[in-house]
Amino acid sequence: MKSHVKAVVIGGGVVGCSVLYHLAKAGWTDIMLIERSELTSGSSWHAAGGFHTLNGDPNVAKLQAYTVQLYKEIEEISGQSCSLHLTGGVMMADTPERMDFLRLAHAKGRYLGMDTELITPSEAKAMFPLMDEKNFVGAMWDPVEGHLDPSGTTIAYSKAAKKLGAEIVLRNRVVDLTQQPDGTWNVVTEQGTVHAEHVVNCGGLWAREIGRMVGVELPVLAMEHMYLLTEPMPEVEEFNKSTGREMIGVLDFKGEIYTRQERNGILLGTYEKACKPWSPVNTPWDFGHELLQPDIDRIAPSLEIGFKHFPGIEKAGIKQIINGPFTFALDGNPLVGPVQGLTNFWCACAVMAGFSQGGGVGLALSNWMVHGDPGFDVWGMDVARFGEWASLRYTNAKVRENYSRRFSIRFPNEELPAARPAQTTPLYDTMLANNAVMGDSWGLETPLWFAPKGSEPKDIVSFHRSNDFGPIGEEIRATREKVGVTEIANFAKYEVSGPAAEDFLNRLMTNRMPKIGRIVLTPMVNEFGKLIGDFTIAKSGEDRFMIWGSSAAQKYHMRWFEKHLPKDGSVRIHRFDQTLVGLSIAGPKSRDLLQKLVDVDVSTKAFRFMDFREMAVGGAPCMVNRITYTGDLGYEIWMAPAYQRLVYKAIKEAGAEFGIVDFGMRALLSMRLEKNFPTWFRELRPIYGPFEGSMDRFIKLEKNDFIGREASAKEQAEGPKLRRVSFIVDATDADVMGDEPIWAKVSKDYGTVEKPHGYGAPRFDTTGKEVRGSKAAEGASAVRGIVDGEWRVVGWVTSGGYAHYVQKSMAQGYVPAALAEDESAGLFEIEILGHRRPARINVEPPFDPSGEKMRT
Ligand SMILES: Cc1cc2nc3c(=O)[nH]c(=O)nc-3n(C[C@H](O)[C@H](O)[C@H](O)COP(=O)(O)OP(=O)(O)OC[C@H]3O[C@@H](n4cnc5c(N)ncnc54)[C@H](O)[C@@H]3O)c2cc1C
Repeated sequence: MKSHVKAVVIGGGVVGCSVLYHLAKAGWTDIMLIERSELTSGSSWHAAGGFHTLNGDPNVAKLQAYTVQLYKEIEEISGQSCSLHLTGGVMMADTPERMDFLRLAHAKGRYLGMDTELITPSEAKAMFPLMDEKNFVGAMWDPVEGHLDPSGTTIAYSKAAKKLGAEIVLRNRVVDLTQQPDGTWNVVTEQGTVHAEHVVNCGGLWAREIGRMVGVELPVLAMEHMYLLTEPMPEVEEFNKSTGREMIGVLDFKGEIYTRQERNGILLGTYEKACKPWSPVNTPWDFGHELLQPDIDRIAPSLEIGFKHFPGIEKAGIKQIINGPFTFALDGNPLVGPVQGLTNFWCACAVMAGFSQGGGVGLALSNWMVHGDPGFDVWGMDVARFGEWASLRYTNAKVRENYSRRFSIRFPNEELPAARPAQTTPLYDTMLANNAVMGDSWGLETPLWFAPKGSEPKDIVSFHRSNDFGPIGEEIRATREKVGVTEIANFAKYEVSGPAAEDFLNRLMTNRMPKIGRIVLTPMVNEFGKLIGDFTIAKSGEDRFMIWGSSAAQKYHMRWFEKHLPKDGSVRIHRFDQTLVGLSIAGPKSRDLLQKLVDVDVSTKAFRFMDFREMAVGGAPCMVNRITYTGDLGYEIWMAPAYQRLVYKAIKEAGAEFGIVDFGMRALLSMRLEKNFPTWFRELRPIYGPFEGSMDRFIKLEKNDFIGREASAKEQAEGPKLRRVSFIVDATDADVMGDEPIWAKVSKDYGTVEKPHGYGAPRFDTTGKEVRGSKAAEGASAVRGIVDGEWRVVGWVTSGGYAHYVQKSMAQGYVPAALAEDESAGLFEIEILGHRRPARINVEPPFDPSGEKMRT
């Protein structure tokens, strides 16, 4: 065993071996994988070996597609078979709602380059004759599904990595990790200490314990999971013989069942409601190649539905039931990337579908370690997406909820109840008393909308407009015509201070920093000129700045800020989280209201649009921004939590004479739509350049050499490939939710534009070939070429909904820039729940297009 290596990968499951392979392939060959026992000694050996490309997050779906395409490559390099069976598979819908869900998934596939197809239950039965098709209303076919040999695949990765120069050390447990003053690591193992620049946690079932070695509680939990194998079935053998094909994979939402052919019989697995965590607090180190005791009673309700839906299986004898543990994060997606607050400590864990996701995880992580950037939009699996609130108990509750809902539909207006309330502001009880329907915003209870007095504050979940539609409209009309108040504690807030604070922010941000008492809006881009942040910044003192941003991105942004912080202590950064809370008042009467509460002049001239002041509001020390996301006249008022109730009470009392109303987050998001304002993680993501994102006026190329300036200048000089545009849609009873395809009938060729997926760093494409330079920025094929006079998918929706004040259904999304800028290119359609609705690009915001109201 070497005593010094560039990187140590802990764990020889499918994920650790994939990370090792990708690091070696990217040129880091001085690397070592350390495994406590034999390879596949965690969950990898007893997996059912199924793989598929579909994922709720299109970016994760693309990495899954990469994983599936990688298997041939590792087979060739290693000489080890993965026993790949690419059978294809179907998802079965038993109700119209589930069919709507499949229509949405199919629509997304149109610009992701997936060849899914909506088919009838009879067509599905022809490929899987054991089902009773009368139980279903429709299905979606995906040709890129199948199964493989889990152990063979893990070994193929490991052999391929070894061929490229990586070392693998078996039967050697990592017992401790200690960091040196220079940021390097001592990896203490049973066989001695290895010094490494980087450490990767691929500990699978023990990932949580490895996190604890460095003082981190990762939000990951193992769950028991069962699948059964039947005796050989004559029906299966007969089907194989008569068609020359294997039976396909089938996913049954209602039964929470997946099933496929295994040898001459059937494998059937369940995600049962009565699920059970395994080792909820500590994972025993002596757990090895063992299985857990099967518990057929727990899966009996799923089996009952399964046998009704697939009567052919019921007759078969059960040969074996496998019960094994594997890990999940809160939302079921992996935890990947550098852990904020630590140097060179990386994670690739909570990978619940190692044989669908392992390759993509390995590729993204190796890009990140070698080139400083994952090369893909990996937010959906970034370890930074959860905050401190994701404690051990929170994780336990949320993972159980996620497991039991694995095959359930999540409606766009559905809030999930487990582990709530976790964090609350001082106004929580007041909001409940006001009949607020609360939602979870990065672990914080936040009012979404207010149900009419006397009615139950509860969403009726739906893909269509629902019971919040009327009340949100009322909240908006009262705000736009009089004044409204809302809680904004869920925004991220930071203070940057110190003698070099301004230089630091100028280096990170694309816009100029404001003068004292003024505010700017500014994107932040990475060195590849892609959007990685969007902030409101106020200069609050000589060497002091307040920053507001997206709540969910707090750790993601802190990681970036810390990476670029000068080492000499000349800049300090503080994240407030819930030690600073806020209220926003908006509407034409908001200034009159504020004036009643303060002892300073807040008239138009004294307190201008985009001004920042510290002032007492209702007697409480506050910071006030003259800005609001509603795009109206309005203010954001920030205070310590101890003052929030006082300020809220003062606002409501003083606002009574103006007819003040409470409004929630959904009203706020609707109001931003009619101003064409983008949102972070929807319109603005690291796959788009700032000019593509139509953020042109916030990019000051001449101000200084900010990170990403060169790439941004190039984007501007060459012209953006895509453009974020806003649409008005002729919708009926359902609005866009995000990720719908945009169609156009065009008479010119605007060039082929693909949905970007990868960017920046040199990386490997979806066929496993290394791509560099401009090709690397394109990503995998998605939107196909535009042909004269034909309706074609030309873009994708990022978000939208009903803009209540202007009474229009609106959407934002990306289309080819040349098409967006061609006024003669008229006709668009946006696909909502499988129906294509006419849509028009809407250049000027329909509410207050001149911006006069907010500036008055
Ligand atoms: C019953 C069942 C069915 C499944 N079916 C499927 C399926 O059909 N498709 C699919 O994609 N996935 C399936 N899975 C999930 C799949 O098994 C996991 O996604 C995958 O195994 C995760 O791999 P991993 O490498 O992250 O973790 P693991 O396989 O748990 O590997 C972690 C490794 O790290 C080692 N290790 C831990 N701590 C240390 C230490 N301190 N020092 C040294 N070594 C250490 C362990 O010994 C272990 O070998 C199934 C799982 C189960 C249980």
